Amino acid sequence: MIASAERVIEEKKREREAIVDENQWKVIRAFQRHRVSDYHFASSTGYGYNDRGREVLDEVYADVFGAEAGLVRPHFVSGTHTIGIALFGLLRPGDHLLYITGRPYDTLHKVIGKPGDGTGSLQDWGIEYSEADLRPDGSPDWDGIRQAMKPNTRVIGIQRSRGYDWRPSFTIRQIEEMVTFVKSLRPDVLVFVDNCYGEFTELKEPTEVGVDLMAGSLIKNPGGGLAASGGYIVGTKACVEQAAFRLTAPGIGAEVGAMLGTTRSLYQGLFLAPHLVGQALLGAMLASAVFEQLGFQTSPAWNAERTDLIQAIRFTEADHLVAFVQGIQKASAVDAHVVPEPWDMPGYEHPVIMAAGTFIQGGSLELSADAPIREPYIAYMQGGLTYSHVKLGILHALDELRSRGFLS
Ligand SMILES: *Cc1c(COP(=O)(O)O)cnc(C)c1O
Repeated sequence: MIASAERVIEEKKREREAIVDENQWKVIRAFQRHRVSDYHFASSTGYGYNDRGREVLDEVYADVFGAEAGLVRPHFVSGTHTIGIALFGLLRPGDHLLYITGRPYDTLHKVIGKPGDGTGSLQDWGIEYSEADLRPDGSPDWDGIRQAMKPNTRVIGIQRSRGYDWRPSFTIRQIEEMVTFVKSLRPDVLVFVDNCYGEFTELKEPTEVGVDLMAGSLIKNPGGGLAASGGYIVGTKACVEQAAFRLTAPGIGAEVGAMLGTTRSLYQGLFLAPHLVGQALLGAMLASAVFEQLGFQTSPAWNAERTDLIQAIRFTEADHLVAFVQGIQKASAVDAHVVPEPWDMPGYEHPVIMAAGTFIQGGSLELSADAPIREPYIAYMQGGLTYSHVKLGILHALDELRSRGFLS
């Protein structure tokens, strides 16, 4: 089963490896241009004034993502925090935020919040919010977007990755189309992209096609499995500065922030990221090919264009979903003896089961699988620092499904 699926994906594998090469060289060239040296890896304490390693890391990120400025910090506690900082940085009471890719990722619902919810959410602060739903085929609803734009629309939000949704993720080409469209309607709106899971999956990044500000998590793709925590924001100088004022304080911005010994791992993780993203994607292609051959619906299909790490596999029963996720956990180097169960995770609206036998807690560039327990029963698997690990994950998942009689 695995062997035949591996033969099937052989052709696509070479295409993927060519993208990995280009992105690896892009990262190395950025390191070289900024003359990264051993001393940049030194730690800083206290205020972290004049931490050259931190400053150059910001510049290297900006360079890699084709942006004017960057803000890369271990102080971002998660992707949600990073995205929140970016949005709060750009928006003021009375402004309107319009997401044009439908309902955003679950954990952002409470960041957006409701008017008067008392949490200090965007809407609690008097920022208006609405979203333009996607069309049934998952494409942007151009007319809907035009109608949803208001005179006070300040920021357009785009989520690149499907998140926990059965829709295709948006390619760079599609994001470019969205930017062109909204800027043709209103040249002064700012376009923000949630780039989580997207980094290094394609040859370009959203900030290379006109996006003003973009954010992502360092315990996903760009942390390269080594970043212990953190997030990054890149974009225009003016937008990144607003985000920096929000992360620390107005007037202080990006000029303070002790890196507490994390700097080397952030550089080295970025260096490794293109390769590891490649390993994870080859694993995802294999999973897709295997489950397709077994008659399951998978998205993306093994041979589809990929613009994020997520591989969705659709099951018919909650039990099957749980068996799959538990099988993935059994292949881990860490916590393989632990059996994941569905639980009410902070920020999520349904019980979620997660296989996460990872070195970095919740690190999802590492092989992991999540599934909200709700219909349709879809497992979202992602990551894998090595292709061989993903392959083992697939083998264990198949074993679990077979041993419980869910698969012949
Ligand atoms: C992971 C993710 C987030 C949130 O990141 P957390 O680290 O889980 O808070 C937001 N948007 C997308 C598309 C994601 O994949």
